[in-house]
Amino acid sequence: MLSVILPAYNEEKMIKKAAVRIGEILDGADIPYEIVFVNDGSKDGTWKEIEEAAEQDDHIVGVRFSRNFGKEAAMFAGLANASGECCAVMDCDLQHPPETLVEMYRLWQQGYEVIEGVKRTRGQESALHRASAGMFYRLISKAAKIDMSRASDFKLLDRKAVDAMLSMPERNTFFRALSSWVGFKTVSVEFDVQERTEGESKWSTWSLIKYAVQNIVAFSTVPMQCVTVAGVLVFLMAVILGIQSLVKYFSGHAMEGFTMVILLILIIGSIIMISLGIIGYYIAKIYEEVKARPRYLISKRIGTEKK
Ligand code: UDP
Ligand code: MG
Repeated sequence: MLSVILPAYNEEKMIKKAAVRIGEILDGADIPYEIVFVNDGSKDGTWKEIEEAAEQDDHIVGVRFSRNFGKEAAMFAGLANASGECCAVMDCDLQHPPETLVEMYRLWQQGYEVIEGVKRTRGQESALHRASAGMFYRLISKAAKIDMSRASDFKLLDRKAVDAMLSMPERNTFFRALSSWVGFKTVSVEFDVQERTEGESKWSTWSLIKYAVQNIVAFSTVPMQCVTVAGVLVFLMAVILGIQSLVKYFSGHAMEGFTMVILLILIIGSIIMISLGIIGYYIAKIYEEVKARPRYLISKRIGTEKK
């Protein structure tokens, strides 16, 4: 059986549409399936829609979070509540075309264990969004040592890969990169990002920046090493300037270069501040991991029991 996991946050208009579309396509292709909706603390009627859909259709499982925990947590809760031998994760706004699911499922039947959806085109986005996404992916690709420029959260994973992901103890997860990190027999499938038909994107610029920083930190310690590099550079500068000012002192022009002193204080001060900030961010993340809080809390589950 294929479990299709759909994280949903304020998607009341999309629940039934998505359930019907995906159901039609998978029935048409003769694929046994269940659909797991994870309601990520929506403020609109999303949960009511899921309950209604689950009543009408016993393919549907609903999981309700006690509040909004974010898409990463929702995807993991979906994986934890899925009973299929393979699990697909996709957006419930149907920007990931459900037709591609069939292609992915066939590849799984051929023995592939991780089938990654790769964006052929990115759909409509503002130029600023595209540029910042480009920068984020360059950074994260370097950090994770995996090319992520066209990666998406649209994936189909074999039970083995799902269990491997679920067994990871860390709280700060980055689904896109983790699913490559686990390895297994991998193949990618291209798809075109579709237009969103209802509702709007849940990501503000600020939430995207937060998401980017969080994931870079979750996957890489390079920013922390930058602190060391900055330290070395500043030390070299200090040596050169130190020699220069000593030379000036002995040749009797000591009062000059006061600007330099101010500049140096500013530069070194700011580098120290930034460095402390970066280290502080990592410490904050360590603190979060050490607390080992659950990734999410479920207030209710409907539909068939997990096998
Ligand atoms: N989503 C979620 N929790 C959140 C934000 C988004 O579960 O806090 C879900 C959302 O319902 C959708 C998917 O994540 O199914 C992708 O969100 P969206 O379409 O807003 O992102 P975009 O396509 O613009 O990247
Ligand atoms: Mg979307």
